[in-house]
Amino acid sequence: MTTNLRSSDGEMFSVPNNLLQKSETLASMLNVCSDDTDDTDDTVTLDRINSKYLRIIIPWLQSGSVQSDNLELNDLYYLLVHSNYLNIPDLLNQLCELLIDKIAKRNNLHKIDSDLITEPRCFNSNCKTSTRGALKVCAKCSIARYCCKDCQSSDWAHHKTMCKRISTFTKTMNKEAAHLSVELWGEPGNTFEEEAGHFWGIHETRAYCRARHCLAETILELADGKQQSFIYEKGLAHHMELLRLIHGDNMGIRYEVPSVFLKLNRDEDCYNFLKWWSTIDPHGRYDWGDPPESREGDWLYLRDQDLLENPLKFIDRMELQVLAAFLWIRLRIVSRYSLMEAIENEIKSATCKSEELRFLPHILPTVKKMLLGRYRSKSSLKAQEEILRQILEAIEMCNKTFLPAMINPGPLLSCPAPSVYSDGSSSEAYLAVKQSLGMLSSVSVAKDIITKFCGGNTYYKVDMESVGRFAVRTNP
Ligand SMILES: [Zn+2]
Ligand SMILES: [Zn+2]
Repeated sequence: MTTNLRSSDGEMFSVPNNLLQKSETLASMLNVCSDDTDDTDDTVTLDRINSKYLRIIIPWLQSGSVQSDNLELNDLYYLLVHSNYLNIPDLLNQLCELLIDKIAKRNNLHKIDSDLITEPRCFNSNCKTSTRGALKVCAKCSIARYCCKDCQSSDWAHHKTMCKRISTFTKTMNKEAAHLSVELWGEPGNTFEEEAGHFWGIHETRAYCRARHCLAETILELADGKQQSFIYEKGLAHHMELLRLIHGDNMGIRYEVPSVFLKLNRDEDCYNFLKWWSTIDPHGRYDWGDPPESREGDWLYLRDQDLLENPLKFIDRMELQVLAAFLWIRLRIVSRYSLMEAIENEIKSATCKSEELRFLPHILPTVKKMLLGRYRSKSSLKAQEEILRQILEAIEMCNKTFLPAMINPGPLLSCPAPSVYSDGSSSEAYLAVKQSLGMLSSVSVAKDIITKFCGGNTYYKVDMESVGRFAVRTNP
């Protein structure tokens, strides 16, 4: 059964009735038509829809995707109004995504989140297979994946070093874990449950903790190279397990975790995590006993915190790595609010130009939900920009090298990696810049905002000290 659709300019389109059910408006028109038994000509006239747009909407009803690659912004506006009028929510969502994308590109806001590969992919960089589930796992490191033997052998020269490091740390970790499970107190027991939280206080556990930490760092290094999210998740899981075992975090894992969350676009988890560590012990009275719900998976002792609040209100200790993570979260928030404002302005001016587009602003709630729906509270671009400015100032107070070095990392990163650092030092900036550099390319406005804050001056003095307050743990 088909129905003829007549566009406002008189063109006829024959469309199967089952497809018309995808639009509430068309479906109800169809019912009116078929009730009218005297009428042999099943034609629905759409006085509000031009044939130019029906030629895009009808294929969408068939395939579920918008086929037109080079859609002009103005045509997109008309399509948005039509899909809203025809009541096709799925099409409206797709078109809103296209709109967000187009206006983001015009305003240098096209990158807000990290662009990670979410489905595991063959590690051979010349191979383009991404056959889901069919990839085989490297037996040595249990991380690398290949679609076939050929891919594995041609990638071996490349993968060898990482593979060996990962498998060595894994072996050491498992060997130490076996000791801890049976021999710790001379009788069988489950150290991993009974002593969870207190590992650092038990000297025998340290070799295990160090091996697991090295393993996590190596896996994360591999993830930086491959940009596949499952590798980051694996590295993160080791870090989290270590935090469960060592509540006091004597290894400084809390400084490494936030950038991993950010690379995974898990900003909410990052914020909850940072806030927990920033508020857990503001007066030095925390007893480092068992926090409630300290089992694996519950390591995040705070939940659902408000990302839009000003974090400077609750942090007492200004630590560069913590402030840097707050900076990236805020840059993403400001990017989303800026994009929302840009879209509102574009739509306002389009609406003024054409009477037919007077209903265009009706799509704004959908766009807003897509861009800002993840935030729990409401805020404004102005308020978020002010918080961003305060965070940048706090960073500047904390370490003079970090911001200019983010824009011009060469002089700093060409120095050998530091083994010690103290507050405000070049070495401290070195560590934070190294962690943050990947974020700079993933948030497109970051460079401009930081450069502007620095007044365009990216000169800084490098003074890598040989004596510092904190030792940097090095991955052997
Ligand atoms: Zn392959
Ligand atoms: Zn391997």
